Amino acid sequence: MAGCRDHFQNSSPSPPNEALFFVLPYLPLFELLAMSQVCKSLRYAVATDLLPWLEIVVCWPLNLRISDDILAGIASRAGGKLKTLALIGCTRITDDGLLRVVAQNPSITKLLLPGCTRLSPAGVITAAKLLAGNSHKLTTLAINGIYDIQRDDLDTLRSLIKPDNENQKTLYHKYKQSSLILPSTDRAIDVDVCPKCNQARMVFDCPKTPCPKRQQFKCRGCETCTARCVECGVCITASEEPEEAACNDTLCLDCWLQLPKCSFCNKPYCTQHADQQQNVAGSSGFLCDACHAEFF
Ligand SMILES: [Zn+2]
Ligand SMILES: [Zn+2]
Ligand SMILES: [Zn+2]
Ligand SMILES: [Zn+2]
Ligand SMILES: [Zn+2]
Repeated sequence: MAGCRDHFQNSSPSPPNEALFFVLPYLPLFELLAMSQVCKSLRYAVATDLLPWLEIVVCWPLNLRISDDILAGIASRAGGKLKTLALIGCTRITDDGLLRVVAQNPSITKLLLPGCTRLSPAGVITAAKLLAGNSHKLTTLAINGIYDIQRDDLDTLRSLIKPDNENQKTLYHKYKQSSLILPSTDRAIDVDVCPKCNQARMVFDCPKTPCPKRQQFKCRGCETCTARCVECGVCITASEEPEEAACNDTLCLDCWLQLPKCSFCNKPYCTQHADQQQNVAGSSGFLCDACHAEFF
């Protein structure tokens, strides 16, 4: 950023390096906004280039602060051409705020609203209808965590969505290992009615179907109804003893056997929490957080 600092000294910014325009579309919103604060040249690039604004992803830490008005301001930078709107856990966004953006951006195809707890099923349906009314349909919708979604709501939403590819199965671990809880590309809506509890939730299949472990036990279900191995997604039945991980996640025996374990308590970390391993000087092994705290 040395050149950037030079620009800051000049009164009129010179055009930024062209390479920057290739990078901008890949930056999350927080970095994008931060970039525009660095210097005039970058601010110019961020303000004049449309491409980075065609996919707006609001996640932590901006998600807790973003309001309807701020969202409207950010979305207006797309000039009505927004394609993806991902609001991850944006707890202050209301139906009003969502509908304002959708009304101004008729070509949205991906609407990802997981954990937006102030949105209502009716608001999401209105948004999907607005888009469908523009002879164009959503391909992906994520609504896990929005309260009180009924079976009828899901039926209505399905009729308003045109999935890209319906035939593949969703893999559990794709959800678990992603810090953004988004539907994988193979399912158009992230929630479904769980066959066990009848609630609209994220419903998972075993990654190998038909499930090789059991013929009678129907293991398709939401996280509450069917426990699954955090590594491979295979179901763990009530009669089975789940293997203990150092991070309190559930593991199947196969995955437990394969993962490296704490030298003292012999519990492994799952892949996602492997960074919690505490190295011990003079040993190739590691201690888990709890053992390390107890002995050091
Ligand atoms: Zn369930
Ligand atoms: Zn497993
Ligand atoms: Zn299973
Ligand atoms: Zn340990
Ligand atoms: Zn874990």
